[in-house]
Amino acid sequence: MRFESKVIHAGQKPDPQTGAVIPPVYQTSTYRQDGIGKNAGYEYSRTDNPTRSRLQALLASLEGGRWGLAFASGMAASAAVFSLLKPGDHVIAGADLYGGTYRFLEKVLVPWGLEVSYADPDDGRGFEKAVKKNTRLIWVETPTNPLLKVIDLGKLSGVAEHLNLLLAVDNTFAPPYLQKPLACGADLVVHSTTKYLSGHSDIIGGGLVTSNPNIHRRLKFYQNAAGAVPGPWDCWLTIRGMKTLPVRMREHEKNALFLAQYLHRHPQVAKVYYPGLPDSPYHALASRQMEGFGAMISLELEGGFRAVERFVSRLKFFSLAESLGGVESLVCYPPAMTHAAFSPQQRARRHISDSLVRLSVGIEHKLDLRDDLARALASSKV
Ligand SMILES: *Cc1c(COP(=O)(O)O)cnc(C)c1O
Repeated sequence: MRFESKVIHAGQKPDPQTGAVIPPVYQTSTYRQDGIGKNAGYEYSRTDNPTRSRLQALLASLEGGRWGLAFASGMAASAAVFSLLKPGDHVIAGADLYGGTYRFLEKVLVPWGLEVSYADPDDGRGFEKAVKKNTRLIWVETPTNPLLKVIDLGKLSGVAEHLNLLLAVDNTFAPPYLQKPLACGADLVVHSTTKYLSGHSDIIGGGLVTSNPNIHRRLKFYQNAAGAVPGPWDCWLTIRGMKTLPVRMREHEKNALFLAQYLHRHPQVAKVYYPGLPDSPYHALASRQMEGFGAMISLELEGGFRAVERFVSRLKFFSLAESLGGVESLVCYPPAMTHAAFSPQQRARRHISDSLVRLSVGIEHKLDLRDDLARALASSKV
């Protein structure tokens, strides 16, 4: 099956009992058993639920993995991955990463006993140099958040394999239509399904995919033991959203490329971060590794924070909001929003400037979006 067919059919057989083409939402906590030890595959919905099973099968199929697991949020999925570790273990994370993951590492896992280092994705040997005797896991996002750096997953998985480390890739910014980390050698793919996979800004969810039987067994055990599972309605909505993933991604990307080129030429814009621009340092790598460049654009405005304030307050179509990946365009100010968990010094070290703005380009008409940016940029002049 090709990708466009998978999103509609993988794990989505009509309901065997009624023939309903769209299987029902199994809004149930428990399942009647025919006798002690005799059930139809389901006992309790924390452990398994048919709607969730369908979502998990779909996630696995799209990422080209053997097993998928769904969680109540992207962070719950991330927490499951870190549950594979024990106190005293060491993790190397990409320095440019989602603020919530950084917060979880620093404020929850470090006090618990995990050691964490951060490697600069731009340093070709940064991850290798950070390896210690107790290193167990490498964790990266690519493209990264918020600077849209692209990491060579084939190369990094070679490093991980050579040193016997697990490689987990948070693929939220590049859903499987664009990039398949397992095929590049990663052990685990992590998703905030809240974003592109569900695609309509109406649920919070997370997912994991792996082809490693031992990892899957441990994560499945953890999923049931810790219990941060999504409800059946959220699973159903996520499945519905995922059916249009390829169609949405093509529109998202067309708009993003058009706007990135427009912003790139605009005198009020000091810098544009988008791997789809030919002069991006990541363009060649992204062209090799990805099927497209996605629809996240970051930019630095001329005029610092005051310009940013004016810019975001004048936008009409781009709502000032956390999150990304929905059909509607959003704008976010990483220093105070998604990346507020970093101190000003840490942001400076990571080149997250006070004039940085991040756009999640939606699928509205590109000219409406361009006009919106044009108006806001005109009035951002300080
Ligand atoms: C949003 C996000 C998360 C966290 O997901 P939630 O669903 O909000 O818990 C993790 N990683 C990335 C890259 C994200 O954008």
